[in-house]
Amino acid sequence: MMKDAAAAPVLKVRDVSKRFPGVLALDAVTLSVAPGEVHALVGENGAGKSTLIKVVTGVYRADSGDIRYLGETVAFTRPLDAQRVGISTIYQEVNLIPLMSVARNLFLGREPRGRLGLIDVGRMNREAAEILGRYGIDVDVARPLRSMSLGAQQMVALARAVAVDAKVLVMDEPTSSLEPREVETLFRVVRLLSAQGIAIVYVSHRLDELYQLCDRVTVLRDGRAVHTGRLADLDRLQLVSHMLGRDLVQVRREGVTGFAGGHEVTDAAPVLSADRLSKRHLLHGVSFDVRPGEVTGLGGLLGSGRSETAKAIVGALPLDSGTVTVDGRRLRRLSPRTAIRAGVALLPEDRKAEGIIPELSVRENIVLAAMPRLARAGWSPGPGRTGSWRRS
Ligand code: ADP
Ligand code: MG
Repeated sequence: MMKDAAAAPVLKVRDVSKRFPGVLALDAVTLSVAPGEVHALVGENGAGKSTLIKVVTGVYRADSGDIRYLGETVAFTRPLDAQRVGISTIYQEVNLIPLMSVARNLFLGREPRGRLGLIDVGRMNREAAEILGRYGIDVDVARPLRSMSLGAQQMVALARAVAVDAKVLVMDEPTSSLEPREVETLFRVVRLLSAQGIAIVYVSHRLDELYQLCDRVTVLRDGRAVHTGRLADLDRLQLVSHMLGRDLVQVRREGVTGFAGGHEVTDAAPVLSADRLSKRHLLHGVSFDVRPGEVTGLGGLLGSGRSETAKAIVGALPLDSGTVTVDGRRLRRLSPRTAIRAGVALLPEDRKAEGIIPELSVRENIVLAAMPRLARAGWSPGPGRTGSWRRS
């Protein structure tokens, strides 16, 4: 495996700038990726990660700077041209055709054809199964893509990206809608690809993933590359500090680790207190305080009770015992309603499934959390038809 950053980079972005009306999305960014390297690209929302990827792959044109691929200066005008020469991109949403078979999606645009120019379905299916099998993905390639789990669909997109002889693979938040098991498969494939010498640029917000997968990291902040280096040389707090541009003060209290942006955590009265939250098999006396302006991280392995704690605070997990206090007032009969009234909001892990009602409009979803207050002010849900709110 070649992971030597000193090896001739396969992709080198130098001093690239890109301005959109009113915002300098990229400000003289430099990034270089070696063969077989998994390079993390991180930064807060709006830092410029996607723009950088789009400039490299020809979705946008850089205002200045230069991009070298395999030692030659390139300026792609569309992603297809970048893909043809070996720069493939996997986006968060799978960009394939759901009604067509897995095999057809894998070969889209390059289907094996018989004498009359017709697609040789038998051969296509055999080759598709062989390619996917190489990555340990065992699916019925004749079935429509949409019958597969999202994870399997993404594997198909990945296999497709690589089957076109990719030398650089760019992955923009690939795991945001995957199940933990699917994430493992994805990681396995990414490691295989890296071992084959493919250079991978990996965009993710999930620190755990970055540390498991990536060799080096480039941190973007407000369009500038503020740090590049080996990921192993940075601990998580330092990494987050680079992303936010602030020194973070680490606080440990009762087993919960939190940090607060730049300032010492004050002794101000907590705005939120959880006291001995307990639920059979799930939570065993969880207590912590959150003070005004503080960001508290709840850390732990999958299944350790992080989400349950979050749900408990907003009354979505009925407790056996324990109390939640907001602004000094203990919430009686803890329920989502009392929590929302007290001003506690939850952005759940799976936002599509739990956080919103997809059948309703954005406006209605926003109004939803404010319903208790609006209801008091004289609003109520309209009768019958989903999605209509009317004035009572
Ligand atoms: P990230 O992927 O790191 O979240 P983006 O690259 O999407 O960040 O955005 C960087 C900045 O450029 C943001 O301020 C964003 O609003 C702006 N931006 C991105 N794409 C466009 C566009 N097509 N038109 C105008 N502004 C854009
Ligand atoms: Mg983005």
